[in-house]
Amino acid sequence: MANPLFDALFGIHAGKTTPFLHLASGETLSHQDFLALTARIANTLSQKGLHPGDRVAAQIEKSPETLALYAACAQAGLIFLPLNTAYTADELSYFIENSGALLVVCDARNEATLAPMAQALGAGIMTLNADGSGSLTEHADKMPDSFDTVDRDGEDLAAFLYTSGTTGRSKGAMLTQNNLLSNARTLVKEWQFTADDTLLHALPIFHTHGLFVATNVMLLVGGAMVFLPRFDLDAILDHMPRATSMMGVPTFYTRLLGDARFTKDLTANMRLFISGSAPLLADTHIQFEERTGHRILERYGMTETNMNTSNPYEGERRAGTVGLPLPGVELKICDDQGAELPQGEIGIIEVRGENVFKGYWQMPEKTAAELREDGFFITGDLASMDEDGYVTIVGRNKDLIISGGFNIYPKEIELILDEQDGVLESAVIGVPHPDFGESPVGILVAQPGTTPDLEGIAAALSEKLARFKQPKKLFLVKELPRNTMGKVQKNQLRETYKDLFTS
Ligand code: AMP
Repeated sequence: MANPLFDALFGIHAGKTTPFLHLASGETLSHQDFLALTARIANTLSQKGLHPGDRVAAQIEKSPETLALYAACAQAGLIFLPLNTAYTADELSYFIENSGALLVVCDARNEATLAPMAQALGAGIMTLNADGSGSLTEHADKMPDSFDTVDRDGEDLAAFLYTSGTTGRSKGAMLTQNNLLSNARTLVKEWQFTADDTLLHALPIFHTHGLFVATNVMLLVGGAMVFLPRFDLDAILDHMPRATSMMGVPTFYTRLLGDARFTKDLTANMRLFISGSAPLLADTHIQFEERTGHRILERYGMTETNMNTSNPYEGERRAGTVGLPLPGVELKICDDQGAELPQGEIGIIEVRGENVFKGYWQMPEKTAAELREDGFFITGDLASMDEDGYVTIVGRNKDLIISGGFNIYPKEIELILDEQDGVLESAVIGVPHPDFGESPVGILVAQPGTTPDLEGIAAALSEKLARFKQPKKLFLVKELPRNTMGKVQKNQLRETYKDLFTS
């Protein structure tokens, strides 16, 4: 027997003294150092009475020890449940109860609040702080540097990732070893990662992007990461010359472009910039190429499916598209019954492949509503595919605005708004309207130092868009509300403007 995920990502590096993590402090951890840390933590977890299949919930800052906790869970056959550090104690209580986690690992600052709740739910609690201190590592420090890897099957669960839950309660997406491993293997090949790569890693590791896409890819090839606790512009600029690649959310790229210190010279050693988790403006893509000579490679995925599409490494990277379905991923654009639509039409993306999760933990009805019996997952993303197979996302299903019976895709309007003088970016939302059901409203952010002419913009839209698609109102705001992964929180905007036409 074996443990496919642990063996392929971690075990394979036993004895390697090559660098794995370059830290902001200047310290470097080799693959071997990391494996020893992992084994010590795995020993601790098993001494605490955890058994294969048990869940470990972790709400902790990003650090090598946090990553080692993920590795230790894989080695001990436990299910890792990373949680956004922004969640409140109330939210946490839901995740612990829903997942049945038997251990909660938290920052010492939150221990007093979380301990009684963990106890009431029958879970133990240990601490791990941003600097690596805490009861988990204190215990682990006394443990042996090796651990007998627990046998697992590729179909065994490796992690639960709770979805961001913009509507209703968040759901625990069950991801197997094979889900994670197959996707990492595909991405390594597609993006041509090797042991010679050093990835600039500034993403959080409680989310699929930073945890699975970025770290699994680097672990699979045995490369190194500059492992930064968060996106800090100064640190990114400092470390970029030693890196060969970066994975980021679109805001990483807009912030880099906003700083004059970010020059082509700084990117001389880089071979690949990747963007995902939220749409990259075509304008950012173009500006980035003008500044650095690099064309950002945009890809698309989600918690439940890992990565689904990518622009090609070699071949045309088309701005505004998320590229082509990845090898091993079947992707169709469907109507809401699951029937495939003619090429070029807008519909819902459905995907099938080894990358697709096993369902939502203890939510058979929600699983059945989104995962078809034939294995296709209904992503809820609205998109079209062109004749070359490139996919363009136009919004989420729930973003779709239906006004007077007509479908309106916000992206179509946003693209036009973004082109207007003085507009940096925009979001179009549907707002309840007494006559039309819903009406589109445009929220704009100005380019620094400018004041867009809203009347002029409304006039320009009236020439380009059918009347029913024209926003009934335009608003100027300082910035769009975004979550940590750079996604615009349209639900928040809808809440703000909900009474616009009805009060
Ligand atoms: P999450 O499960 O938090 O990773 O969010 C997944 C969602 O993010 C997808 O269903 C898409 O709506 C969105 N998303 C991810 N990557 C992209 C992209 N490159 N362009 C547009 N939307 C994206």
